[in-house]
Amino acid sequence: MTLVRYEGKTFEVGPQESLLDSLNAQGAAIPSSCRSGLCQTCLMQARSGVPPESSQSGLQDALRLEHYFLACLCYPEEDLEVSLQGGARPLIPARVIRLERLSETIRLVALRPEAPMTFRAGQFIHLFHETGIFRSYSIANLPSDDEIQLHVKRQPDGEVSGWIHESLEVNQTINLRGPWGESFYVPGYPDQPLLLIGTGTGLAPLFGILRDALSQGHKGPIKLFHGSRHPEGLYLGAELKALSSHSSHLEYRACVSGDEAAHPYERGRASDLAFREVSDLRGWRIFLSGHPAMVKEAQMTAFLAGASLRDIRIDPFTFTPGSPDSG
Ligand SMILES: Cc1cc2nc3c(=O)[nH]c(=O)nc-3n(C[C@H](O)[C@H](O)[C@H](O)COP(=O)(O)OP(=O)(O)OC[C@H]3O[C@@H](n4cnc5c(N)ncnc54)[C@H](O)[C@@H]3O)c2cc1C
Repeated sequence: MTLVRYEGKTFEVGPQESLLDSLNAQGAAIPSSCRSGLCQTCLMQARSGVPPESSQSGLQDALRLEHYFLACLCYPEEDLEVSLQGGARPLIPARVIRLERLSETIRLVALRPEAPMTFRAGQFIHLFHETGIFRSYSIANLPSDDEIQLHVKRQPDGEVSGWIHESLEVNQTINLRGPWGESFYVPGYPDQPLLLIGTGTGLAPLFGILRDALSQGHKGPIKLFHGSRHPEGLYLGAELKALSSHSSHLEYRACVSGDEAAHPYERGRASDLAFREVSDLRGWRIFLSGHPAMVKEAQMTAFLAGASLRDIRIDPFTFTPGSPDSG
């Protein structure tokens, strides 16, 4: 057992627990996304004590020397005093300016932050419930839209998604924090082929990334596979078809893995259909988001099919059954 000081409190961390899991389980809200050392959302700094070398994997030398580390990879070997990268970010109030129904279970929430908030399409924010608990939601639009758009699926018994669907109203002010995440379009490689695979509201970051790529004049082929077990889990089909009819290099594929798969849907899991169609991914940039098991499996498949790890951007919508937030 080691002792970790964070924001003036002392936390006990067991030998088998990552610092991220331990702090979150004890009520400290440490932001995270991939939980496997790739996205660096949970970057922290040891103010005293030395973090294990394995928790600094993938960090630049300058950061290592300053005792920065990734909380998801950190199994402390000695007592530490830690802080979040750059300190905790401020809460930003945002007004709900629009609420729309994208499907039976998915709602579009458009927000206008009341303080400047710089973000990239595809990153995610923490959205706070009135009680102070928060959940992560991906940003589905471009900064130039002058608002933040989220696609929120109502989870059965979901505390925050249920509140968003049933109680949130236009003109209400809520709190946001962020953005976080490394899954966004980086200009500079306009001919690179892009493969986007998402399940359910995993479409949210992909929709933003896709619009960003198109608005920045991406010329290489773009293939978007959106999957769900049931047709009701797919949405924005008309908008995506319209986008692909105006951009000949964009292909949109709606995939249903359950028994109701019939025209116009393709039958099968989005990731299976995508990798069957593109089996050699050398030189491709890949974006994966949504169900954590799909993201993890597809990341491995893409790597084995030749994609470079730094060209695979992941956004697993992690949650721990019964826990307040795992994002
Ligand atoms: C980086 C990141 C980005 C995300 N982006 C989005 C997004 O754009 N849109 C979106 O709708 N969600 C997104 N999520 C998921 C979101 O953060 C919440 O986990 C989700 O809205 C459920 O919160 P809740 O409070 O309603 O449910 P909770 O009260 O936390 O959970 C209620 C019950 O539902 C179960 N549950 C929770 N989530 C799921 C799930 N995904 N699948 C199956 N069972 C579940 C829980 O285990 C629990 O039993 C994202 C998560 C992460 C980590």
